[in-house]
Amino acid sequence: MKKLEEVLRDWEAVIGLEVHCELTKLHTKMFCGCKLEFGAEPNTHTCPVCLGMPGALPVPNRAAIENIVLAGLATNCRIEKHTMFYRKGYMYPDMAKNFQTTQGPKAFCMGGWLDLAVDGRGAEERLFWKDLAAGDAVENLTRTADGYSARVGITRIHMEEDAGKMVHIGGGEGRIAGATHSLVDYNRAGTPLIELVTEPDLRTPEEARLFMQKLRSIFLTLGISDCSMEEGSLRADGNVSLRRRGSETLGVKTELKNINSFKNLHDGLAYEICRQAEVLEEGGQIYQETRHWDPSKKCTIVMRVKETADDYRMFPDPDLAPYDLSDEFIESVRAKLPELPDQKAARYERDLGLSSYDARHIADNRFTIDFFEAACEAAGDRARELAKPLANLALNDITAYVNAGDGIDFAATAFTPTRGVQLVVLLAEDAISSKQAKEVFAAVLEEDKDPAAIVEERGMRQVSDTGAIEAVVDQVLADNPDKVQQYRDGKTGLMGFFVGQCMKVMGGQGNPKLINQLLGQKLDS
Ligand code: ADP
Ligand code: ZN
Ligand code: MG
Repeated sequence: MKKLEEVLRDWEAVIGLEVHCELTKLHTKMFCGCKLEFGAEPNTHTCPVCLGMPGALPVPNRAAIENIVLAGLATNCRIEKHTMFYRKGYMYPDMAKNFQTTQGPKAFCMGGWLDLAVDGRGAEERLFWKDLAAGDAVENLTRTADGYSARVGITRIHMEEDAGKMVHIGGGEGRIAGATHSLVDYNRAGTPLIELVTEPDLRTPEEARLFMQKLRSIFLTLGISDCSMEEGSLRADGNVSLRRRGSETLGVKTELKNINSFKNLHDGLAYEICRQAEVLEEGGQIYQETRHWDPSKKCTIVMRVKETADDYRMFPDPDLAPYDLSDEFIESVRAKLPELPDQKAARYERDLGLSSYDARHIADNRFTIDFFEAACEAAGDRARELAKPLANLALNDITAYVNAGDGIDFAATAFTPTRGVQLVVLLAEDAISSKQAKEVFAAVLEEDKDPAAIVEERGMRQVSDTGAIEAVVDQVLADNPDKVQQYRDGKTGLMGFFVGQCMKVMGGQGNPKLINQLLGQKLDS
């Protein structure tokens, strides 16, 4: 199979996502008062409504409607005041009602969008953006200083309910194949879910991954879900098709179901794009089918071929009155909107003078936001001055530390925001070099001590005494007259040699900035 990069030169990938998110922060189910609790004793949170007993009447959960309106407002959707619930025919034992309550053609939230900032290696997947000048736009893409921004349309966000959970006994690994009997746990039946559907506006696996990441960080900020991809409270289906570059018509798509990590979303789509290209280039045909991405085998396999449109016999639920959301209700929800990641990034740029790149990436993650904001607060009057080194600390050292571990809660470590400020102050005062700062960072985490204490104990203080450094510089130059001559004849690369010699004499504790400066003065005079 060809590589993604090669395939995308000839073919354009068209991707749309369907994202399911369980509203895990609610206390009760969508249409009854049963408690929502993960991992409870089976069938202890059920009632006539979620068990579908005849005559039991559903009552919508107001808090759930608030949650979906929050999600819609945060993703630039229009809030539809008049919508209703539908019944979708569904015959399977995990749903005792034999139908799923969901929404019809009009959902609570319609027609939104999100802008993705794509930069670094991820931007390379989208070809040709580099040919544009900053600010230029093509299709949904605008060239930015360090990459591009892509606008992704959101078709709708609708409300529906989850099914119960089947447990198969006697088969291998709990699978239905070979099972002697199956049990069903209705605790999850009726859990409120929102489903967000995008327009087919994504063009690379990286854009799909970034979209999911951005959505997750928005939903987390809204506090409507724990958005755990491992536990399944956030899942994505990736739809993808190919068309020849320049073509406007959509190709036949395949759908990757229930993707449970960002990496799997990226890698599954990348594989599927390459697979489809191979089939098409060999004169074959893509069938509209559902496929499963197997991360260990690194391939997708067919689950289900779609020959005709499914007929779910959808009709308005006669037990649930149509909605008439009031302006007051919508405005009361709008008033609860917290500061969203994009707004945070704009504020970091405006008030703290961060670059757009740094601001965006800080605002990407909870732990970088929490650290950076608390550190700026602790820095008081010096926040603007120290914002850049604090951002570097958050994006480099802290991010590397968190990513290297498994589920590290950085806020619970010994490296508090106050210690972060102390560290960047030492750096700003040239008391330590940036290399030493890395060592201090690791030592604070390990030994739970203030940066200054570690610097003292390890005798790390960088020598920034101009007189002392000048003496060393003079000595090094005097010891190497031939190299000095070569430098003055144009071999300026020797600067590194001189700096290295000075550092060696000073046991690595000389201030590199000052050494460079003094060497420059003396050599160029
Ligand atoms: P289906 O009827 O198969 O569920 P939908 O029209 O509801 O298809 O779209 C489901 C998702 O697939 C949406 O995110 C949409 O943007 C995306 N999509 C639709 N057509 C295509 C296509 N040809 N290629 C890629 N994605 C597509
Ligand atoms: Zn119930
Ligand atoms: Mg669909």
